[in-house]
Amino acid sequence: MTRDLPSSVQPVAAYLSADHGRYLLNAAFNTGSTCSICSTPVNHVLDAYCPQCRQLTESADSICDRVGILIYAVQYDTQAYRLVQQYKGNFPGPDHILVMRSLLALGLRGHVECDLKLSGFAPREMGWAVVPSSKGRDTLTTLVRRLAARPETQVPLDVTPHGFEKHVFRPANFVVPPGTDVPRHVLLIDDSWVSGANAQSAASALKLAGAHDVSIFAVARVLKPTYEPTKRFLSEFGQRSFDPSICPWTGNVCP
Ligand SMILES: [Zn+2]
Ligand SMILES: [Zn+2]
Repeated sequence: MTRDLPSSVQPVAAYLSADHGRYLLNAAFNTGSTCSICSTPVNHVLDAYCPQCRQLTESADSICDRVGILIYAVQYDTQAYRLVQQYKGNFPGPDHILVMRSLLALGLRGHVECDLKLSGFAPREMGWAVVPSSKGRDTLTTLVRRLAARPETQVPLDVTPHGFEKHVFRPANFVVPPGTDVPRHVLLIDDSWVSGANAQSAASALKLAGAHDVSIFAVARVLKPTYEPTKRFLSEFGQRSFDPSICPWTGNVCP
């Protein structure tokens, strides 16, 4: 069933389409051509998951229950990738912040109800968290808090003080402070997804702290254009124009 974007999000959608639509590429969840978890192109039509996600599904620790991705950021020489990198850099410019903030507004305000619908939880059972930066930056948290309908439902999530290990799936990289009343459903937000190990570690830490169900929303799925399935996928679909009404949870119409 399709659903119009809420009226509060329509100006943002119009701005993104008009000023940035020529380089923004919607993430796709197509059975047989992309990973059903992270939307990266897969090698074979029978592959439900990419190799990185498959490995995580085989982990003994529980990972997230669903992933929403808004756009692709193709390494290295594309405007979407540069946007993500510069926003994450030491000195993001006001333009990078504005575009990232607009993408977050579109994905979160435009489709938070889709996440609730897919998870089956009521709004009062839901909280949100941000994947904390291992470099101690709080740009994303600030952007999300301003967009949150209920900022007070933020679930605190910190980088462990006991040795963060990069680029690996390790729930102990993150901690929820003891005594936190963790909601049953948590929407976990990140800016970009490279291997998924970091966001999935954070999702797992939330579950260990008591969450029953965790969704991850990431603005951009970073793709490597030298990977053969990605190359094929981009040559077939890489020129589509950006459609802000496409649901980041389904890659299609809203649930
Ligand atoms: Zn994947
Ligand atoms: Zn939606």
